[in-house]
Amino acid sequence: MRTSKLGNLLPLLKIMIVHVIIGCTFFYSATAHAAEEVIQSATPNHTLNPDIRLTPKEKAWLQQNPNIRVAVKSAWMPIEFKLESERHRGISVDYLTEISKLLNVNFTIVDFPENSQPGAVDMLAGVIGQQVKYPNFRALSQPFLVVPFVIYIHHDNPQSMLINSLDDLKSKRVAVFKHGILAQKISENYPNIKLVHVNIANEAFQLLEAGKVDAYVGNELVVDYHVSVHRMKYVKKVALTPFASSVYMAVNQDNQELASILEKSMAVIGQNNEDILKNWQIHDTKNEKTLRLLGLLVAVVFILGLIKLYRLTQNIKRQKAESKQQMWHQANYDHLTSLPNRHLLQNRLELAMAKADRSKLPVGILFIDLDNFKHVNDTSGHSTGDLLLSEAAKRIARCVRHDDTVARFGGDEFMVVMSDIRDVYTLEKSCQKILYELQQPFLIEKDTFFISASIGVTLYPDDGARYEELLSHADQAMYEAKKMGKNCYQFFTESIQSASLKKLSISNDLRKAQNNNEFVLYYQPIVNLHDGKITKAEALIRWIHPVKGAIGPTDFIPIAEESGLIHALGDWVFKQALHDLAAIRAAAGSDFQISINVSPYQFQDPDKLLNWINLIQTQAVKGANISFEITERLLLEPSSSVINTISQLRAAGMELSIDDFGTGYSALAYLKKFDIDYVKIDKSFIQNLAADSYDAALCESIIHMARKLDIKVIAEGVETELQKNFLRQFQCDYGQGYLFSKPQSLHHFLNVLGEVET
Ligand code: C2E
Ligand code: CA
Ligand code: CA
Repeated sequence: MRTSKLGNLLPLLKIMIVHVIIGCTFFYSATAHAAEEVIQSATPNHTLNPDIRLTPKEKAWLQQNPNIRVAVKSAWMPIEFKLESERHRGISVDYLTEISKLLNVNFTIVDFPENSQPGAVDMLAGVIGQQVKYPNFRALSQPFLVVPFVIYIHHDNPQSMLINSLDDLKSKRVAVFKHGILAQKISENYPNIKLVHVNIANEAFQLLEAGKVDAYVGNELVVDYHVSVHRMKYVKKVALTPFASSVYMAVNQDNQELASILEKSMAVIGQNNEDILKNWQIHDTKNEKTLRLLGLLVAVVFILGLIKLYRLTQNIKRQKAESKQQMWHQANYDHLTSLPNRHLLQNRLELAMAKADRSKLPVGILFIDLDNFKHVNDTSGHSTGDLLLSEAAKRIARCVRHDDTVARFGGDEFMVVMSDIRDVYTLEKSCQKILYELQQPFLIEKDTFFISASIGVTLYPDDGARYEELLSHADQAMYEAKKMGKNCYQFFTESIQSASLKKLSISNDLRKAQNNNEFVLYYQPIVNLHDGKITKAEALIRWIHPVKGAIGPTDFIPIAEESGLIHALGDWVFKQALHDLAAIRAAAGSDFQISINVSPYQFQDPDKLLNWINLIQTQAVKGANISFEITERLLLEPSSSVINTISQLRAAGMELSIDDFGTGYSALAYLKKFDIDYVKIDKSFIQNLAADSYDAALCESIIHMARKLDIKVIAEGVETELQKNFLRQFQCDYGQGYLFSKPQSLHHFLNVLGEVET
């Protein structure tokens, strides 16, 4: 009986020790600044602390300004706040106290009301983020406090084991502060989380208690402090997020000396100074009074067990520190390559930007995307892909200076941040080095792989002032490097930006175009070269933009593909062609065939394509009235779903053409496997037809081979009699091109049907 009671007491004893310490801390807190609102250096007129080296100019400034006026907020616990006794307290005040000791200066504290401008002061004790919203103030280069944002849930939430990161809060209701960076970050990076905005922490706690939100994400220090001061037993901390809040001191812009003095002081005291923070990281406070009583009773046991307990707490402390360090590492580094992740990249880039503001030397940002990596991943498996990525990461890191940041941005994308760029040539050299390194063979588990990279380069401050802007510009430049044929680098330029803005504007307008009936289908005849008859036509989409006029499909189809609009657009094309077929068949016979372009992207939504079979049946049209044009790309490594969709469409009688033949893989024999009916020789070959030319030989052999495989050939882009005659001579089956007719609206096309002669 007795032993079991003592056994119960031991854990309580541990808590008690903590509480005795906290009790002392509170007492100290209340009495620390008993005089007036001036933080006085302990030893006036003493020489400067030897840890800090000031220039003569800085020393002179300090002598002339022994009283520094600082604005401190009143309701931002525990960072800075005002007690009932009108004294200001908090972490930033503790920092000021340390600085005052270090420099032998006094700080005069001035109230800094929430939501209004600071008064006439030399500095602000604490602001969130480096961009200070008060125009006269500039933040120091380093924050003195960096606190992670952490996920809290209700203690009774049965899912607590399942919530290990923000990813686990998908479609959950999550309380966050309305103002501030966190709400923005979460909504950008985790659009599926349903954010519930709150104005003050209490509101979030009430929602959590009432079960009106599933979680609350907040600043760990602030929330823990509230939870323990208000004894909110129902709040449970479950996981870290990759986001953190940084608190900076800010200095009046005209005051260069004070800024550099404070920077130096901060360097001595250090970020998240442990001695300061331990006063504010309060833990379990339940049953405080009872525990103190108990504490007296078992004081003897306490002393006896002191040595053992000391070791134990040291152990726990170490483990805690280790696990905190581990959590921090997980939140900031990529597990595969051990490079900084997106989150840390942003921090590093913003630091580099602040440094550049002072040094006036620009920052270079390289956006590196590996070429053909997807192919390695798809063909050799993810584990090979992973090994290649970590090797690529090492190679990139070798190409830059030690203090540059190399980060993994995601997938096969890397970023490099290079400070102090004295001339653009340095950047070019680094790009060339990276390209060279990545071109070297990768030997992975006895297999050799070859890749390359495309790099987009942008400069701060020349190309952009904000993190997001710089990233988007580097991305645009990288995209341009890809377009230029990959394995090269490209600097961001105005023209890249205007092309990308144009793309954006097209993509916005494209969303509305279908509802506004801005699309039209044109038809271009496909002529039988043996007898001159028109028995087929290709449907080609046209966009009549209300402001910009006609926009060609090459300008908007790729954008529709990227944005997913292609599915609806392709469906519209099919339905419109089906509709127009009635008039065309009436004019040109019931066997007339319309050829419809189908983007490879459309095969991602096979149900839409398969529904065409139903549509045909309801319209009393024959399958053979339709042929669909696809590119070889789709058939290179077709998924089972692609093969299945194609075979079902074919089973319904529709025919299949390979578009732009000759520009891709161009092997007829393998195409036969897919039961191809037509190949369309790309217009670039037809346009160069001349006696004894390479293209003539190529056309002839394509036609010859196709004939053997029972595939019909359509020549695209026939513009001259000469070209037509060559094709006839090679016994090409069909021709399409301006020589016969340009693509026409339905109305004109119906007229053309009667007129063409070959
Ligand atoms: P495409 O499938 O190769 O279509 C043939 C293109 O060549 C058409 O350009 C046509 O107007 C043009 N053309 C025809 N005859 C001649 C000629 O004698 N000389 C020259 N120089 N060009 C000729 P268009 O209409 O601008 O279409 C461009 C591309 O846009 C098409 O290339 C096709 O890939 C795509 N496209 C057009 N309509 C659709 C559609 O409804 N859906 C999809 N997914 N793509 C479409
Ligand atoms: Ca086509
Ligand atoms: Ca074509």
